[in-house]
Amino acid sequence: MKKIAILGSTGSIGTQTLEVVEHNQDIQVTALAAGSNILLLEQQIRKFHPSLVCVWDEKKAGELKTMISDLDVKVTSGMEGLLEVATEPQAEIVVTAIVGMIGIRPTIAAMNAGKDIALANKETLVTAGHIIMPLAKEKQVRILPVDSEHSAIFQSLNGEDSRAIHKILLTASGGPFRGWTRERLAGVQVEDALKHPNWAMGRKITIDSSTMVNKGLEVMEARWLFGVEMDQVQVVVQPQSVIHSMVEFEDGAVIAQLGTPDMKLPIQYALYYPERKYLPGERLDFAKLGQITFEAPDMEVFRGLKLAYDAGRTGGTLPTVYNAANEYAVGRFLKKEIPYLTIIDMIEGAMEHHKVVSNPGVEEILAAEQETYDYIESRW
Ligand code: NDP
Repeated sequence: MKKIAILGSTGSIGTQTLEVVEHNQDIQVTALAAGSNILLLEQQIRKFHPSLVCVWDEKKAGELKTMISDLDVKVTSGMEGLLEVATEPQAEIVVTAIVGMIGIRPTIAAMNAGKDIALANKETLVTAGHIIMPLAKEKQVRILPVDSEHSAIFQSLNGEDSRAIHKILLTASGGPFRGWTRERLAGVQVEDALKHPNWAMGRKITIDSSTMVNKGLEVMEARWLFGVEMDQVQVVVQPQSVIHSMVEFEDGAVIAQLGTPDMKLPIQYALYYPERKYLPGERLDFAKLGQITFEAPDMEVFRGLKLAYDAGRTGGTLPTVYNAANEYAVGRFLKKEIPYLTIIDMIEGAMEHHKVVSNPGVEEILAAEQETYDYIESRW
């Protein structure tokens, strides 16, 4: 029986991972971590019987201990607890479904402990890809992409020599505001931005999809995962979200992966790679679909995507500043404290202010994150 640990088990990716586990009945969950949702975590513990769990919030961890005092489960909290879950001895794969840069340390710890990573937490690769990818090689562990686009690229590369990649064609739905002007975007409210046309996801990534910052993060994620230059990753808007991404090879051949928008497919593919297994759910019906359309992204209106290319090309600590400024700004927007377009202004302002450190270590990455928060707080 394959054994896995999940960081962020109560979130969108975490719960869908557990659905895949439940359906297949041949994976054992050995450890789970969540932020504060102890009611859902308790249900997960009773259903999947992990021996170790972590709740980030110490007080909530205490409450959970009381709630499951009838069970023999170790409850931990904070970063120490997250690291313990990430390195739980029995787990072979750690699913990083936690949101934000908090994922960096546990991911590195899991790799050092020899675990394969089913990576959803793109923020880790965006900010520390130059550390993660060589470490994966050194420790001989696999980074299995869970993001649907990256899974599509991974599937398109199956059996191919990655040196023959000419270009990665990263598809984007364009989000709920595709075709809008900047003037119209100025009035966007939280409720509008939380309505994604095709995918049901966590709150932060849904906002990121609406600004196309998510696509920017994905460009940087793809660059590290597949060892290409930023400018070899081209974003193609494909509003029906049927083509999950494509690879163009040296000879001009383009290979794509298509499917209905269902995250359980890339999650299951990562957990069982290289095996394919039956997955229940809706299938593509091309006659019903009728057409698949394409357009170029509008980087003038969706400046967040352009800024991601700037950050990725410069490298060093700049992708961290891009990501941290976005995490901070989206948090404030979700609390209705700033207007929608200020998200991008904050990213741009923080990037302009930052003095780039090249080839940063984890401490320097985390320092750049804190410096970004401090700068934005002092200016807005
Ligand atoms: P959600 O917000 O739905 O879930 C986040 C999870 O992380 C929750 O379980 C949350 O716990 C947990 N968490 C947050 N902070 C901490 C912490 N400090 N310690 C421990 N656990 C914590 O996010 P998503 O599932 O949407 O996204 C997760 C990651 O996957 C992100 O990096 C995202 O970019 C990526 N991703 C998501 C996709 C999707 O379809 N949702 C698609 C591709 C990538 P709690 O519930 O208790 O707060």
